[in-house]
Amino acid sequence: MRVAVVGVQGDVEEHVVAAKLAMEKLGMEGEVVATRKPGVVEKSDAVIIPGGESTTISKLIFREVNGKTIAEEILTLAEEGKPIMGTCAGLILLSKHGDEQVEKTKTKLLGLLDVKIRRNAFGRQRESFQVPLEFKGVGVVEAIFIRAPAIVEVGGGVEILAKFEDYVVAARQDNVLGLAFHPELNVEFGDTRVHEYFLNMVEC
Ligand code: GLN
Repeated sequence: MRVAVVGVQGDVEEHVVAAKLAMEKLGMEGEVVATRKPGVVEKSDAVIIPGGESTTISKLIFREVNGKTIAEEILTLAEEGKPIMGTCAGLILLSKHGDEQVEKTKTKLLGLLDVKIRRNAFGRQRESFQVPLEFKGVGVVEAIFIRAPAIVEVGGGVEILAKFEDYVVAARQDNVLGLAFHPELNVEFGDTRVHEYFLNMVEC
């Protein structure tokens, strides 16, 4: 099995480490590859879009390199039913609808998750924080939020996996998983359960 981590910008390495450890724990054989160019995602069984700056990541994944874009490869994989996970800025990119900030910056989204996203939803006072959350199918997860977005509207086919206050912060639509927080940072205390949950989506 090959897992691709979109490595154009953001916390790429943490996802590589977390996905590798999760794979090991599940006894799955395979590799985790960070990629900056088209050509790798299309040959993968699952894709992770990390956090970072959504405007920058969007520009880079929609940029044509030799007539191809990483964005179109992600869309093809999603159509084939392969799992796609986006965390934080990655969640913004997966979303179908953005807020005024997304519109103002003309950020192109992939539109794979039928939700409306609000960038930087938790405001300046709470730029980054950690909170225990009940994550459906996983249990209590220490969720680390960093200038995080939140899901403010959810479409029909979307399953809510975790909430914080009035916001949905983890959601799944079939093979597409979006999280407002950073599960890859939990690898620091040996917790890779969210990545294991994601890898277990590969078979379905
Ligand atoms: N605030 C960033 C954005 O809107 C996302 C932050 C993150 O991914 N940690 O793009």
